[in-house]
Amino acid sequence: MESGLGGADCLLCTSRRSDWKDLKKLVDFDCFAIDRTAAKTLDLYKQLLKDDGEIEKSKDDYNTRQGLISKPLLSSDQHFITITHQYINGVTWILKIIYHLRSSVLNWSERGVIKEQINKARELVLNEIEKATGFRLDKCELTGNSGTSTTGGQGRRFFSFELRKAIVKTVRSNYQKSFEKLLQLYSVILRAVSSTESVDVPKFRQLTVDFSVLIAKEFPWIDYSMTTHSLIFHSAELIFRNNSRGLGEISEDALESTNKDVRNFHLDGFWLELPKKLFEVTKSPQQISPSAGTVEAVNGV
Ligand SMILES: [Zn+2]
Repeated sequence: MESGLGGADCLLCTSRRSDWKDLKKLVDFDCFAIDRTAAKTLDLYKQLLKDDGEIEKSKDDYNTRQGLISKPLLSSDQHFITITHQYINGVTWILKIIYHLRSSVLNWSERGVIKEQINKARELVLNEIEKATGFRLDKCELTGNSGTSTTGGQGRRFFSFELRKAIVKTVRSNYQKSFEKLLQLYSVILRAVSSTESVDVPKFRQLTVDFSVLIAKEFPWIDYSMTTHSLIFHSAELIFRNNSRGLGEISEDALESTNKDVRNFHLDGFWLELPKKLFEVTKSPQQISPSAGTVEAVNGV
């Protein structure tokens, strides 16, 4: 790995996977600030380099070694999110959640007999989505190897408001309500990130915190991938650094569906359903650092 960080949980921050579902840390924004830079990683490498050219390693040394396993070759900071990559990985991640909710396998691993259960659920789910919406998702379209515009487009469609009801219906009815929240929040976050509009960063950040709290509380068995972690834990800071603008390139298609989704988001009273406590996070502006910025009207969210 060019970054040298082959053992890292995240290439942007030094937090651990276990932190990502730690409720106390989730409301403390500073726990997930982007704190890795190419210069720091190189410094760390120099510090850990022994005379024999190997890196100093010991058990449970993440705090000191921070996932560094080889010489870093990158000289620039990897502080970005690739939108198409986010859509493709986002669909794969959400589909995995759906298959598990369909088969009531509340466990992220898919070994042995469970794999068969998941495959069965997968077939049912994909057929139902296609039947209800005409939208065909399959492996080939989600590998990301063939034409990125097609796959990005597939992802945008998957997260569109139009398909949401049909997608939510594919999970067992007892999970539908909380899964709908999950899917809606994730979709809105993705749309805001992939837009080019100006974004109210504290408000947007609150959405990402809400999402992480939802996972920690209602879906603790779900694991983030590195890509989905970046979206949820780092996109607010990246947007702030981007002059509080979404990170996408102009695409009429994307903007059009964003507006529709945002309209629905406000109308259906989703905000009101969230526990009051979550909003306390935004009440003291000093907690929003380092991304405290303009509190302007949001266009993107
Ligand atoms: Zn991170």
